[in-house]
Amino acid sequence: MGHLPVSGASTMRCGGNTSCMSIEISGEPLFIFDCGSGIKQLSDSINAAKVQRLSARIFISHTHWDHINTIPFFGPLYIRGNQIELFGPYQGDLTIERAVAAQMESVYFPVTIREFAARLLFRDLREEALDFGPVRVETMLLKHPGYCLGYKLTCYGRTVCYITDNELYLKSDPRYDLAYVERLANFVRGADLLITDTTYRDHEYPSKVDWGHSCVSEVADLAARAEVKRLHLFHHDPDQTDDDIDLKLAEMREALARLGANVQCDAPAEKSKLTL
Ligand SMILES: [Zn+2]
Ligand SMILES: [Zn+2]
Repeated sequence: MGHLPVSGASTMRCGGNTSCMSIEISGEPLFIFDCGSGIKQLSDSINAAKVQRLSARIFISHTHWDHINTIPFFGPLYIRGNQIELFGPYQGDLTIERAVAAQMESVYFPVTIREFAARLLFRDLREEALDFGPVRVETMLLKHPGYCLGYKLTCYGRTVCYITDNELYLKSDPRYDLAYVERLANFVRGADLLITDTTYRDHEYPSKVDWGHSCVSEVADLAARAEVKRLHLFHHDPDQTDDDIDLKLAEMREALARLGANVQCDAPAEKSKLTL
C-alpha cells in the first residue's frame, strides 16, 4: 500500500500493492480513491461481477506514480457505456487530465488515453466541498511534496477520511506545525473511519524526514486529538514485511493507549471490507 508494489510471500497480506480504496453506497456511483496497483484487484472484481454500465467517481490524492500508475489497468475505462468521473488536484499549470494522459504517452506506455471507451470526465480540484446527492466530498491540502489532497466523504451520517500522503513532523522538530495539525484534526474530527499515511515505525522515521510521510507517534496524536472512531494504517514502506506491519500496529495500539484514546485500530489486509 505504499510507494512501490512488492510481491512475494512476506507481503501477501497487507504490504503488496500501492494505494487504492473504494466506497460502495447503495444507489450511488462507486467512489474510488487513488489508482495505485490495488485498483487491478478492484477492476477484476467489477469484471467478475459483470457490472453493466458502471458509474464511478475516482478521486486522486496526487500524481505521484504510486497513486496513478495503474489507471491504464482499470478495465471499466475501456468499456463503452460506463461513465467515470476522475477528480484530482491541480499541480501548478498541470491539469489532472494532462497528468493522466502524459503517463500514457508512447514513451511510457503502449496504450494511450484515446483508447478509453467509457465516457470519462476530468475535473481539477482545490480545497473545496462537492455535493453528489446524499454524498458530500470535502478536500484539504496535505503536507507532502507537490499538491496533495486529503478527502472526507460524508453520507447518511457516516464519515470516512482518506488522508495520504501526509507528513506529520515530530513535536521535537522545528517544522512541527501545530496549526496544521489542529486544522487536519478538525477536518477528520469524529470520523467513523480515518485511513491515513502511517508509513514508518518511529525508529525508521528519522532517516526519512521530509519525504512526505508520517510515523506512528504523530498519527496516534492526530487520531487521539480528532477522536476518530476507527483508524486504519495505510501507505506502508515497501521494505516492511507483513510481520513488520504487525509490529507497527502493536506500536500504534500502545501509543493510543498511552494517550488514553478510545480508537479502534487496524492495518487491514488487501481486499478487506468494512461495513459502516
Ligand atoms: Zn504515495
Ligand atoms: Zn506521494
